[in-house]
Amino acid sequence: MKKLALHWKIIIGMVLGILFGFIMNSIIGGKGFVSDWISPFGEIFINLLKLIAVPLILASLIKGISDLKDISKIKTMGLRTIIIYVGTTLIAIIIGLTIVNTIQPGVGMSEATIEKIKLKYENDAGVKDKLVKASAQQNTGPLQPLIDIFPTNIIKSLGEAKMLQIIFFALFVGISLLLIPEEKATPLVKFFDSLNEVVMKMVDLIMLFAPYAVFALMANVIIAFDDTEILLKLLQYAFCVVGGLVLMIGFYLILVKVYAKKSPLWFLKQISPAQLLAFSTSSSAATLPVTMERVEEHLGVDKEVSGFVLPVGATVNMDGTSLYQGIAAVFIMQVIWPEGLTFTNQLVIIATALLASIGSAAVPSAGMVMLVIVLESIGFPPELLPIGLALIFAVDRPLDMCRTVVNVTGDATVSMLVAKSLGKLHDPKPKNWDDNYEGVK
Ligand code: ASP
Repeated sequence: MKKLALHWKIIIGMVLGILFGFIMNSIIGGKGFVSDWISPFGEIFINLLKLIAVPLILASLIKGISDLKDISKIKTMGLRTIIIYVGTTLIAIIIGLTIVNTIQPGVGMSEATIEKIKLKYENDAGVKDKLVKASAQQNTGPLQPLIDIFPTNIIKSLGEAKMLQIIFFALFVGISLLLIPEEKATPLVKFFDSLNEVVMKMVDLIMLFAPYAVFALMANVIIAFDDTEILLKLLQYAFCVVGGLVLMIGFYLILVKVYAKKSPLWFLKQISPAQLLAFSTSSSAATLPVTMERVEEHLGVDKEVSGFVLPVGATVNMDGTSLYQGIAAVFIMQVIWPEGLTFTNQLVIIATALLASIGSAAVPSAGMVMLVIVLESIGFPPELLPIGLALIFAVDRPLDMCRTVVNVTGDATVSMLVAKSLGKLHDPKPKNWDDNYEGVK
């Protein structure tokens, strides 16, 4: 396996994991074996990635900002990032709504199918859990998300991995470092620079384990699918979501080609390990360290840009999620609440899906929780909510995997665009885990 490129190793791991999952699904006791003996290795891998995410954001952002040497650049970078994020998210939602209104996957679904899905999932713990989480999210004031950006105790924020709070703190430290005399700032800047190098090396080392971890993660996903019949009934809806996501990736590639003047294929090749991990973990937050490593070392984006744009993006920019929310909301309405399908409601969906993608956590299934809020914003009858979620629940995990790929690709694309616009996109200098190994072996 040594000479194979990383993304091939990961793909092989995934394919073997899927096959293994199917085999175990058909063997008595197979599911238990996978969840007891295989799945923990996937969990360990995700834990390791989460372990380094916080020091990585902190170090790379503080070091990056203090390198900028010009506070006005931070403002320009922040503004451009937010504008492009909002722009791409709006495009994603519009693509989703156009597809679902054209193909109409929910029109004509038979009563028998609806009844079957309802019976199986309406009272499912997973569906109930989403509804509970959504109502907890709603019981806060409108400016609560803004208040939440400002921490009172940074140790607590670091411990709880509160991304936006950490970003705020890092920006604050970085800007203050710029404002003190250079000789005073240097020791701290050097410290964070060194920390950044170390954590980047840790990413390389963790990635050596990636092909085995995705094997475990994929086997675990496969054993969770039990009702393939319902899965097939929902294929048209799933195709709409996947089709929309593919179009969105196509849109990113156009931006990469036209604005960043880079080859789309080269871009995909460089970013693919992050995409494959996004797919296997369904979490852009867990994937973040790898996305940062790929974007900095393999796409050539400077730290000060990637250190800001990527962690912010992982939290607030979820194009895949908002595209999915548009399609899922309209699909559910087509099936059980067609009278709600008005033009005004679709406009409200655009606005709320945009806000919902900002508010969604970068973890598995977060998009489905926020879908509840999107539906409630258009006056969807509350008693139909569990049925609505039940309708899409069976295919949610595979779609979550696909939309997370788009979320991560979107962040990487935007970081390239912002870097290009600031003259911070350079020829990449990839590092390998064993660059210094000979000397210490
Ligand atoms: N799993 C997605 C992410 O982490 C969020 C979602 O759409 O559920 O990006």
